[in-house]
Amino acid sequence: MFIDSHCHLDFPDLAAQLPELLQNMQSGQVTHALCVSVNLEDFPRVLALAEAHPHLFASAGVHPDYENVREPDAACLAELADHPKVIAIGETGLDYFRLQGDLEWQRERFRQHIRAARQCGKPLIIHTRAASADTLRIMEEEGADRIGGVMHCFTESWEVAQRALEMNFYISFSGIVTFKNAKIVKEVAQRMPAERILIETDSPYLAPVPYRGKTNQPAFVRHVAEEIARLREVSLEEIASTTTNNFFNLFKVA
Ligand SMILES: [Zn+2]
Ligand SMILES: [Zn+2]
Repeated sequence: MFIDSHCHLDFPDLAAQLPELLQNMQSGQVTHALCVSVNLEDFPRVLALAEAHPHLFASAGVHPDYENVREPDAACLAELADHPKVIAIGETGLDYFRLQGDLEWQRERFRQHIRAARQCGKPLIIHTRAASADTLRIMEEEGADRIGGVMHCFTESWEVAQRALEMNFYISFSGIVTFKNAKIVKEVAQRMPAERILIETDSPYLAPVPYRGKTNQPAFVRHVAEEIARLREVSLEEIASTTTNNFFNLFKVA
C-alpha cells in the first residue's frame, strides 16, 4: 500500500472528479492521502474532505505564495489544528521563486506556523523554493527541531537535506524525482536514510512520468515510489511499506 503525503484534493479541478479519484486510489492501493491547506479561506473545504472520508487527512496552514489572504497567527492555527483529522501545520515556508520584493511577511508567517506547531504538538509541512538558507535559518531560530515535520516536494541539495534531517525532519519526494533532468533530487533519494523518506504527488501539480504535463492525482504516487525503488535498488514493496510506516510515525495516526 502507498500513502500520498501531500495533495490538494480541494482544488476545483480535482474536487470536481472526487469520486473517480478516490476510486483510482483504491484500485491503485493508495490507502490514504493528506489534503494540505493553502489558506484559511479554503480550510473548511479541506477539513470537510477529511471529515467525510476516513482515509483522508487534513492540515491547517497558509502557503507562502498566497499574498492577499487572511493572515494567520500561531494561536488561530493551533486552534484549527485542534481536531482529530487535522494532523499537521502547513503548508508553510518560503518561496522566493514565485514572489519577489520585500518578503518579510513570508518569513513572519512562517515563524507563526512553527510556533503553532510547537503549541499544538503537530508536525510541520514545509515548502521551500529558492530560499533554502533562510528556511533553514528560521527553522533553527524558532526551534522547529523540537516538533519536526516534512520538507515537502524536495528539490534541494543533499547538504540541505542533511540539515533538515538533523532537525528531525522527513524529506518527501514528488513526481519531480521521475523527471530525467532531476539529477540532484535523484541523488538525494539515493542517499536518504530509509526511515525518513515520504512520497507525495502534490496533485494537481507535477504529475510523474509517464503522466508528465497532465493533471496529477493521488493514485499516481505509485510512480514516485517506483522511481525511488529503482534508484535505491530495492523492491517496490519495500519502499511502499517503509514510506507508509514513516507517514504513520511522523503524523502519529494509526
Ligand atoms: Zn508546496
Ligand atoms: Zn502543496
